[in-house]
Amino acid sequence: MEHYKYLILGAGPSGLACAHTLCLLGEESFLVLEKESEAGGLCRSAEVDGKPLDIGGGHFLDLKRKEVLELLFRFMGREEWQEHRRVSKIRIRGVEIDHPLEGNLWQLPIADQMDFLESIAKAGCLRGEPQPEAFADWITWKLGECIAREYMLPYNRKIWSMDPNKLGTYWLYKLPDVSFRETLQSCLERRMFGALPAHGTFLYPKQHGYGEVWRRMGEALGERLHLGEALHSIDPEQRVVNGRYQADTIINSIPWSAWTRAGPMPDDVRAAVGRLVQVPIDVDYCPDTLPSDSHWTYDPDESKSFHRVLLRANFCPGSRGYWTETNAARSPEVPAGGFRHRNEFAYPVNTLDKPAAVAIVRAWAQAHGIYPLGRWGHWEHMNSDVAVSLAIAAGRELAGVGG
Ligand SMILES: Cc1cc2nc3c(=O)[nH]c(=O)nc-3n(C[C@H](O)[C@H](O)[C@H](O)COP(=O)(O)OP(=O)(O)OC[C@H]3O[C@@H](n4cnc5c(N)ncnc54)[C@H](O)[C@@H]3O)c2cc1C
Repeated sequence: MEHYKYLILGAGPSGLACAHTLCLLGEESFLVLEKESEAGGLCRSAEVDGKPLDIGGGHFLDLKRKEVLELLFRFMGREEWQEHRRVSKIRIRGVEIDHPLEGNLWQLPIADQMDFLESIAKAGCLRGEPQPEAFADWITWKLGECIAREYMLPYNRKIWSMDPNKLGTYWLYKLPDVSFRETLQSCLERRMFGALPAHGTFLYPKQHGYGEVWRRMGEALGERLHLGEALHSIDPEQRVVNGRYQADTIINSIPWSAWTRAGPMPDDVRAAVGRLVQVPIDVDYCPDTLPSDSHWTYDPDESKSFHRVLLRANFCPGSRGYWTETNAARSPEVPAGGFRHRNEFAYPVNTLDKPAAVAIVRAWAQAHGIYPLGRWGHWEHMNSDVAVSLAIAAGRELAGVGG
C-alpha cells in the first residue's frame, strides 16, 4: 500500500491547479490519478485537419483572476497567448447579430425591433408581477415573451435536451436585467448598451489549442501524475483507492457517479448521486471556413441539431474550418471521415433538486475526509479560471496556509 497525504482524483484544470498549489507550498506527499492518457479534462485539445481543436468545446481564458494567470503563465508564458476582444453572435430571425441579444436589438430591421421592444415593455418583472417558480415562466417574466420564445427557451431546450421546467431558477441570477428604457435608447441611438458579457476580452494560445497549458501542467507533475488510471475501487472509510493507494485526504474532482460504481456508499448518498444529471456534448469538425468575424455564434433554431458554432479560423491563426457543439441526444450521424469527440460529462445540469442532492453528497464526503473540488465535485457550472481559482484556494486551505 502506498500512503499519501493527498490523493487527487482527476487531472482536469481543478486537479492540476490543486496539485501545483500543493507543490508550490512545498507539499510532496500527493498523487493525482487521471483516467485519460492526457491531462486537461474538458480543456484538452487535439490536432484536427492540421491545427488544434478544443475537443471539450470552445475554451477561452478570462483575464479577470490574477492568481490564475500567475499560475498558468508559469507553464505557458504570457507571450505565448494572444489577447482577443470577444466577437460573439446570435442567429435570430434569419440574421446574425451581436451577443448579448438584448443589448444589440438595434441591429435588427425596425419592425423586428418593435416586436422585441413591445414584449420587453410587457415583461412581468417590469410590471411588478410576482416571480414565477417554473423555469419557462420565469424566463418569460424576466425577459419578455419574444426573447423567451425565440431565443432563451429554444436554446435551453437544445443545450439541455429536456423540458426547461425541469430546471431550477436558482442559477438565473446571472442573467442581466433587461431595461425597456435602455433597450429603447439603444435602438434609437443604434449602439449597444449594457455591460460586456463574460470573456469580454480573453486569451487563447498563439500556436496551440487551449489544451496545451494543461498538458504542460500535467507533464510538470512527473511521477506524481498517473495517466490512464481511472478510479475503479474505493473504500471510503479507510480512504483506499484502487486497492493500492491510501490517503489522509481524497480530493475529488471526478463525477460522483464513478464513486457509486467503485465502492460502498450509504443508500441516501447513492440515491442523491443518482439524481445528479449531466449533459454529454459532441464536438464535430467541419473544414469549411464561414464568412463571419465571430469567434462563436449561438443558434437557437431547433431545426438544427447544434446550439453553438466555433469559428476556429477567427482565433486559431493559420487554421480553417469550424466546429459545432451539440447535445449528444440531438446529434446526427457523423459523416464518413468526419471528426467527432464525445464528452460524456460536459455540463452539470441545474435541475430542481440539484442543490439538495449536492448537499447530501458533500456532507457525506466531508465526514469521510473527502474534499469535493471543481465542476464535478460541486456539480456546478464554472469556467476554467473559476475552477483554477477555487483549486488554488483549496490547496492553500488544505496545506494550512491562510489568506
Ligand atoms: C462546451 C464547454 C465550453 C466551455 N467553455 C469554457 C471557456 O470558454 N472558458 C473557460 O474557462 N471554461 C470553459 N468551460 C468550462 C471548463 O471546461 C471547466 O471549467 C473545466 O474543465 C473544469 O475543470 P475540472 O477539472 O473541474 O473538470 P474536468 O475538466 O471535467 O476534469 C475532470 C477530470 O477527471 C477525469 N476523470 C473522470 N472520471 C474519472 C475517473 N473515474 N478516474 C480518474 N479520472 C477521472 C476526467 O478525465 C478529467 O480529466 C467550458 C465547458 C464546456 C463543456
